[in-house]
Amino acid sequence: MYKMMTPGPTMVAENVRMARSVETGNPDLDPDFYDFYKDTCELYSGLLHTKNESLILSGEGILGLEAAVASLTEPGDRVLVLDNGVFGKGFADFVRIYGGEPVLYTTDYKSVIAIEPLRAFLEQDSDFKYATVVHCDTPSGMLNPIADICPLLKEYGILTVVDSVSGMFGNAVNVDAWNIDILCGGSQKAISCPIGLTLVTISEEAKQAMENRKTGIASFYANLLIFKDYYEKKWFPYSMPVSDIYGLRQALENIKEDKTILERHAEIARRTREALTRSGLSLYAENGYSNTVTVFSIPGGVTASAILQTLQEEYHIMLAGSFDVMAGEVIRIGHMGYNCTEENMQETLHALDRTLRKLGVELKAPLEFSR
Ligand SMILES: *Cc1c(COP(=O)(O)O)cnc(C)c1O
Repeated sequence: MYKMMTPGPTMVAENVRMARSVETGNPDLDPDFYDFYKDTCELYSGLLHTKNESLILSGEGILGLEAAVASLTEPGDRVLVLDNGVFGKGFADFVRIYGGEPVLYTTDYKSVIAIEPLRAFLEQDSDFKYATVVHCDTPSGMLNPIADICPLLKEYGILTVVDSVSGMFGNAVNVDAWNIDILCGGSQKAISCPIGLTLVTISEEAKQAMENRKTGIASFYANLLIFKDYYEKKWFPYSMPVSDIYGLRQALENIKEDKTILERHAEIARRTREALTRSGLSLYAENGYSNTVTVFSIPGGVTASAILQTLQEEYHIMLAGSFDVMAGEVIRIGHMGYNCTEENMQETLHALDRTLRKLGVELKAPLEFSR
């Protein structure tokens, strides 16, 4: 195997893998499983500082984004899509699929969404049912200030949908304090489970908006209302992936026990950025660096694929390139969740140092953490 230092999926703790292998009952018929599911959802909500209900859906992270849009959008609804990254822009496609009218607010892909220009835009036009924003836009590693963006949108009566799939648990998320109506998460980023689950956290106001629709939700699997009263009725809309949820529970317990998780992510991320820039490499984004992923530009005279291939063949470390407008331009190092240790990053930086030198890149200083 190789060390998977990618920005999702991440490596998985042994106790999470073991939890996924225990014997299971029938999740549809066993009343205890309904308690287990609900307790796991409540544990997750608590870690995100909210009393809002969370649901675990059987499907990868993208399902959560689609479910949020499917459940809120009625034909003709205007939706504000904050677009300063690949995932940010991607929300427009979901809005169109469900008959909404996406209005893109597009800004530079290397900078965070700035608050004052957004406020000026909203002064002119704030007739939106909801807005979408990505917390950490993983292809660029940039972290939007949702703590300021979401309350601003709410001032104008706009519901907020936040994709924090790759942001949460490496960066602070406070759902209630920041007025997030639907928060989307995924199992395979800083939660450090294998790929397969998505989590949505839904405010009462968002539920009201779904209940008050004039038209039905044009989906079954992506319909968040089908979970209504599942606990009281002891009825799930489809059979739950019980082993995945056992693993998720263990991963969330690990996070709960980890009292310095956010501080560690902040420190590892800062030292990674310092090491890269000290050696003469440049970071892709100009501001708003996420604590979960660091993205640097490919130096001249070498290709991303040559770097990635050498790292994997000679050092058994996998990093990631990027896609869309960043394809071939950058390399991404994922230091989130179970990946986020000093040892993992030292080993990764050392291997990257050797690889770049071998490929003829001159570094100003060795790639390593300093104190
Ligand atoms: C990983 C990720 C998702 C989930 O989608 P993938 O299929 O794993 O790409 C959604 N949003 C963001 C910002 C992500 O980083």
